[in-house]
Amino acid sequence: MTQAHSDVAGVQVSTEHYIGGRRVGSPTTFEDRSPLDWSWKLADIARGDADTADAAVSAATDAFADWAALGADGRAEHLNRLADVIEANSDQVAEVECADMGMLLKSLRARVVARGAANLRNYAGLAVAHEERVWSSKGTDNRVIRMPAGPAVIITPWNAPWLLSTWKLAPALAAGNPVILKPAEWSPLSASLLADFADEAGLPAGVLNVVQGIGEEVGAALVSDPRVARISFTGSPEAAREIGQAAARNIVPFTAELGGKGPLIVFDDADLDAAAKKAAGQYDDGGQVCLAGTRLLVHESLREDFLERFHAHVDDEVLGDSRDPDTTIGPLIHPEHLARVDGFVQRAREAGDRIVRGGQRAEVDSSNDGLWYEPTLIEPASNGHEIVQHEVFGPVLTFQTFTSEEQAIELANSTAYGLSGIVYTTSHERAERVGRAVRAGTVWVNTFLVRDLTAPFGGCGISGIGREGGDFALEFHADLKTLQILEDSTS
Ligand code: NAD
Repeated sequence: MTQAHSDVAGVQVSTEHYIGGRRVGSPTTFEDRSPLDWSWKLADIARGDADTADAAVSAATDAFADWAALGADGRAEHLNRLADVIEANSDQVAEVECADMGMLLKSLRARVVARGAANLRNYAGLAVAHEERVWSSKGTDNRVIRMPAGPAVIITPWNAPWLLSTWKLAPALAAGNPVILKPAEWSPLSASLLADFADEAGLPAGVLNVVQGIGEEVGAALVSDPRVARISFTGSPEAAREIGQAAARNIVPFTAELGGKGPLIVFDDADLDAAAKKAAGQYDDGGQVCLAGTRLLVHESLREDFLERFHAHVDDEVLGDSRDPDTTIGPLIHPEHLARVDGFVQRAREAGDRIVRGGQRAEVDSSNDGLWYEPTLIEPASNGHEIVQHEVFGPVLTFQTFTSEEQAIELANSTAYGLSGIVYTTSHERAERVGRAVRAGTVWVNTFLVRDLTAPFGGCGISGIGREGGDFALEFHADLKTLQILEDSTS
């Protein structure tokens, strides 16, 4: 049986599921370890199964009618109260997420945890502000009504669990859909804290359920349940294909935010030092960032100058314990992931690609078993090689040059992904032209990761289906209805 709580960095975290407003265990567990030191076992977590999934969907189904009937204003009050509780406990979340995922403690404290509360407040406000579209046509008064759809399953990946859980559950709850949240098995703890916060905030039982376990087990059972009305997934294209098939069988709308292989394009009119610094910054969080610009595409005339500045900036990076304020690059999440990242690098070496820097596991602190990998730069022998075409999801960048704007765009658009792109240029016309030509859900010019929560967010190609953010997510979580009333037929 599960032990009910585990002490993680001084915070008591429940290791059980949260279903229908109650903590529930499972007969078996799985181990959760810290990437900061793999010998540090954080917890034995309840390993959900088909029965767990059934109980969670039942709880959400039972909660649906009352939650929907509350209306946008009533739900907004709950969401804002949950945001208050998060803000009051933000340091706990930062400590736990850092130990569990390895994200830098200073980033968690400065930005990431607060974004969780901001996500909730943003959607509380958007849902309340929404006005129904009303118009007259063909002798009828018309309006478009958003009906809450029903229980929503939300499945998140290990790399940004807190950020993505709150990002995805806020629009579902605001739209009137109770949620079953399943975090990734490699970083399950912040979702458990979120359940405690929901309890403390007085969210009605069954409106937020958190289920722990393995994707192919409890995750697959959740997405196959015909009572589920929406599936919102962030993770790999491989899992999305499985989940998409389950969604298709039940004819359930499904959004998928998937991997990326974004270009970072540096034109010959760019602020070169800013571009080189931002390129080096793509190693942040160990490169485990879906939006990262991992393919450096640099104008041929800048090759030496860019590389010199890039290396200087990377030399300033500090690999280390994510709790240390001097650290800029933390460890990778799991030994299996480290082996996967290294596999890409070694295959690139064998394929004749040039390892410009890095290329192996880094030993940072011999007193522990942390999972660091050297910031790695590879100049591929061919654009078709695996290292250019596949997401590595680690501190591994590729370096290629171009001689014309057309070639830069062609290279940028030459993978099956299309999540994000970064462009460095000082020409406004070029910024507009290239920004429009790069096939991606988001393109940043002379900046990176600036987010407006009301803007659409998602990917093209194998980077995903659908858009989140702003009204786009609220619309996804609604069943839209057109109501037509014959003019002058009612009084
Ligand atoms: P993953 O696909 O292995 O797992 C993601 C989640 O899906 C986990 O909770 C897992 O348990 C669950 N899962 C796996 N198989 C399942 C199945 N058959 N049915 C139901 N659930 C299942 O991904 P990961 O390794 O956790 O995360 C890394 C990937 O996520 C990378 O590709 C990264 O680019 C992507 N990602 C994308 C975004 C984005 O916004 N586009 C953001 C972060 C991460």
